[in-house]
Amino acid sequence: MKRILLVGAGHAHLSVLRSFAKEAFHGMRVTLVTPLARQVYSGMLPGVIAGHYRLDDAQIDIEALCSRASVEFSPGSVDALDLQARRASLEGGEKLDYDVISLNPGSRIERSLPGAERTLLVKPLDELLAGLDQKRIGRVAIVGAGAAGAELAMALGHRGAAVTLYSDRPTPPGVAGEQIAKALRRARVDFRPGMAVTAVEQGPVIVAGPSRQDFDLVILAAGSVAPAWLASAGLAVDGHGFALVHDTLQSTSHPEVFVSGDCATLRDAPHPRSGVYAVRHGESLAANFRNLGGGKPLEAFVPQAHALVLLSCGSRYAIAQRGGWTAQGYWALAAKPAGLRREPQFRWGDSPASSTSWSIVMIAAVAVAVAGCEWTMMVTPLLFGLLARVRMSAKRVPMRRPFRSRSTVPPRIFSS
Ligand SMILES: Cc1cc2nc3c(=O)[nH]c(=O)nc-3n(C[C@H](O)[C@H](O)[C@H](O)COP(=O)(O)OP(=O)(O)OC[C@H]3O[C@@H](n4cnc5c(N)ncnc54)[C@H](O)[C@@H]3O)c2cc1C
Repeated sequence: MKRILLVGAGHAHLSVLRSFAKEAFHGMRVTLVTPLARQVYSGMLPGVIAGHYRLDDAQIDIEALCSRASVEFSPGSVDALDLQARRASLEGGEKLDYDVISLNPGSRIERSLPGAERTLLVKPLDELLAGLDQKRIGRVAIVGAGAAGAELAMALGHRGAAVTLYSDRPTPPGVAGEQIAKALRRARVDFRPGMAVTAVEQGPVIVAGPSRQDFDLVILAAGSVAPAWLASAGLAVDGHGFALVHDTLQSTSHPEVFVSGDCATLRDAPHPRSGVYAVRHGESLAANFRNLGGGKPLEAFVPQAHALVLLSCGSRYAIAQRGGWTAQGYWALAAKPAGLRREPQFRWGDSPASSTSWSIVMIAAVAVAVAGCEWTMMVTPLLFGLLARVRMSAKRVPMRRPFRSRSTVPPRIFSS
């Protein structure tokens, strides 16, 4: 029987597993190789740090999901590919043969900044959490004010850290840049726009032009790069090492290799790298694996023009941004874990109230998209807020004071 090897349990492959769990996939043996049996969901990570969610509630049980999808789970990390022999090598020396391989290992943080070895990287997420657990988090510097850097800054500030956020740009990126800058000020983050960090010296001390300042901890959240083994295997890559793919998500150099999520660049329709697009890649992959299995032609992935970005602001609200539209409020924060509820292992564990409420919210969201009427724009946030409360109370999570209570955070997230 032919074998599909899935590498990495990124958002795209989670979507594939979800599809296979919903409707069995026959005709090919599927194996997933990824380092962790349980991993934290990036959309909820700032909320875990801020104390809004328990770590357990933000984790995805990959192994259980594989078993529901009838996919073999193989713990490990790929570090090389032999494209000729169709063989993946894992750290530790194990080799896995494949007929078709699908790569979804995400991206890494760029480490070319001098002194980067003295910093804690924002990715991998489990290493970030473990690092925060071990360090004193009194005075924290974050390098990079993209969505991840800004969310982390406000989450850590909410937990009582004195946070300084460095950015080489004049405002946070995107149409909500000004709103995010305001939210940072409100969260008492010392935001330093236009201040490019040039090195991190022993201390750690941040060097930004003539300015030097020491901290307890420096977190690096600037720039992402592709895993080096994509290019070294001989796959076609773009100027930054991300795999170049056709609209079927097949490598432009090797049709038996599919690449999705952050580490892929669509040659003819490049789009931003985000969890939202990665999930859409996964939906297309699942359909195309079924087409492959059935001997049918592959379908093209067409990226949506805009994706909803929800940026949590440390305390009781988040900023929502889609295309040129921005808004903020409690409802946007409530919608963040709602995104996770679309992942099957969470949906299966859902109470009926939460599934129903999520469906109603989705209907309202579609109404907004389709009608674009003013009344739906007003009603949707209210629905989000109301139904999030119904869902949370169904799960017995306290809603009155969840953001002040530290008791919801497992003690091992931070040592201080
Ligand atoms: C703090 C933070 C918050 C974010 N919040 C949001 C948000 O709210 N909304 C949003 O859209 N995006 C968000 N993002 C961006 C989002 O996380 C990424 O765009 C998304 O995770 C990319 O998904 P992916 O499918 O490419 O892979 P990832 O989700 O990055 O997963 C990669 C997987 O591959 C595995 N892996 C890695 N290397 C190997 C290897 N060598 N062999 C085998 N397996 C491997 C990893 O363990 C992991 O399972 C956030 C990012 C960060 C850092």
